[in-house]
Amino acid sequence: MSEIYQVFSRYDQQACQGELNFRFCPNCANPLELTLYDGRVRPVCPACGFIQFINPAPAVAILVVRGDQVLLGKRSGSPDTGKWATPSGYIEFDEDFLSAAIREVKEETGLEVEIRAILNVASSFISPKYHFFSVYLLAHVIRGELAERSDLVELRWYPLGQPMPELAFKEDEMMIARYSQGLTTGLPVDPRYARLSNVKSN
Ligand SMILES: [Zn+2]
Repeated sequence: MSEIYQVFSRYDQQACQGELNFRFCPNCANPLELTLYDGRVRPVCPACGFIQFINPAPAVAILVVRGDQVLLGKRSGSPDTGKWATPSGYIEFDEDFLSAAIREVKEETGLEVEIRAILNVASSFISPKYHFFSVYLLAHVIRGELAERSDLVELRWYPLGQPMPELAFKEDEMMIARYSQGLTTGLPVDPRYARLSNVKSN
């Protein structure tokens, strides 16, 4: 797989609108009404004016590399329980995406990493309830011992360029393939945010 892809869709997103609509206003608990606003029909509160905008969830996924090996974990959550994936997670509202990546790797693997490059950016239409907008990052291990946590129940280093276990996401598959074939080194990242010293410890 040497082509580059940035949009991954597992379903017809046009046919699945409305799955995430609120029924009641989160501000004042009034029933919401579907109203044309800004070119789309959206849930709007007639009492306080709240408008529900539904957006993809910003996330990061991290290719953690040590020598010629990549770190993968077996997923415990949905979707694709039991398949393998890179460490990943949501960006908190008060967090920059580089710090989020460092935090997620620490939480899911016990390792402290430095973010080295941006490898890809992707829209992932997983299901009507899961639409991620993800930044794919390259990270190197600084220190720490592998420690399995809840999201990834098994962690293992796999040699780059060798067959991988069954991966949950095509996004990971493509990124690992392109990286291991030397097709990408990625964009440089802002070093002020790419190190753990900037991240609050938990
Ligand atoms: Zn309201």
